Amino acid sequence: EYEAGGYMPINIGDVLRNQYKVSRKLGWGHFSTVWLCKNLYENGPRYVALKICKSAPMFTAVANDEIRLLQETRSVNPNHVGFKNIVQMVDTFKLISENGVHTAISLEIMGPSLLHLLMQSDFRGIQVPAVCKIIFQVLRGLTYLHEECHIIHTDIKPENILIKVDESYIRQIVGKMERFSELGVELPRSYVSSEVWTEKDSNLHQSDDEIMSRIGEQRSSSYPNDIYLSDLVNYRERHNQTSFIAPMWVNPNIEIKIADLGNACWVDHHFSQEIQTRQYRALEVIMGAGYSYPADIWSVGCMAFELATGEMLFSPKGSTDMSANIDHLCLIWETLGGIPRYITETGSESKKFFFNGHLKDVPIDNLRIWKIEDVLVEKYKWKRLDAIPFAGFLESLVEPDPALRATASQALTNEWLQSMDI
Ligand code: ADP
Ligand code: MG
Repeated sequence: EYEAGGYMPINIGDVLRNQYKVSRKLGWGHFSTVWLCKNLYENGPRYVALKICKSAPMFTAVANDEIRLLQETRSVNPNHVGFKNIVQMVDTFKLISENGVHTAISLEIMGPSLLHLLMQSDFRGIQVPAVCKIIFQVLRGLTYLHEECHIIHTDIKPENILIKVDESYIRQIVGKMERFSELGVELPRSYVSSEVWTEKDSNLHQSDDEIMSRIGEQRSSSYPNDIYLSDLVNYRERHNQTSFIAPMWVNPNIEIKIADLGNACWVDHHFSQEIQTRQYRALEVIMGAGYSYPADIWSVGCMAFELATGEMLFSPKGSTDMSANIDHLCLIWETLGGIPRYITETGSESKKFFFNGHLKDVPIDNLRIWKIEDVLVEKYKWKRLDAIPFAGFLESLVEPDPALRATASQALTNEWLQSMDI
């Protein structure tokens, strides 16, 4: 998608707008690529994440909305406790490439996402006290977005929650790239294509080793300030696999922030009917029943389960939207032990899916009620006494009726969150 209207072609070492020197790729999404950059100016933060959007008018319009939302979160109330759990914008400007005009947004620099953390756990999940710390901060960020900024995020999921890393760690990554450039080392393409937190490209490791030996250094497998994520991940055995690569970047005193306001909207001005990534999509959105802040809370519930178990709470199958929706509704029905009749009758889509309070074309015998508490005990081997409060917490977040669902503030007072000493 590096074409007209698409991503901006970037090379490591490029200096953008005479200010930002590109060091490594941090990530990418449907709209953008994101780069670790060193700020060559005296003022402002030393390192930033530079989000460079695709250039087609549609993407520019989305970027402009994102900027307005980011400006709102930056200015409404910086003293609010949840302010520091939202990734903040530093600056914004335009860049020109052969593919067109790209909107660039510089953001405070963060580390890997919770998806990276889950991958690092080999999808076994994260230790429960860390899940608790993470979810607490996500909810605190949402109290700020919802109650102060009147913004619905609409895309809460692991890849949009970023973990804070020490600046010393960022400095080492950038330092290594600077040494390479001083020595005139030509970097292989894999440096541009691979993301810094995954680096699973074995070519890249090989070239790293080669370059390092050429300059008489050894690639260190760990850095002095490394903070080991291994404390956070769960070593639950799965598929008889016990091998595990200890990750290297996360402080056990984990701090997170909510990122990616690229799909966010105002509570009184929605941009789209269909929101959220499938697995994290709230019941009312599937039903076409309108949505507000509670849609984000549903996603938090899905994410909390996933962080704790390594597996998604709802992962519907189906090749068409219709079949995926039906599968999704079956899964919700089975997990919650049914859906109240009045909920099955609300929303523009309700008649497509339900008749007389039951899922159309799905014989009731095909549904197997398997509530969260029992899933935790039977499938994930939790102790019943641990499963009860966690399942209670999750059920307050994936409550089918958005009006009864916990708000972010209410969820923060939940006894499961409170019981973990954080
Ligand atoms: P998109 O709107 O295209 O999905 P995101 O804002 O989600 O873009 O950014 C894409 C990826 O880039 C993220 O999943 C994350 O890995 C990385 N990223 C985004 N913002 C930052 C940041 N401030 N610091 C570090 N990495 C970031
Ligand atoms: Mg994203």
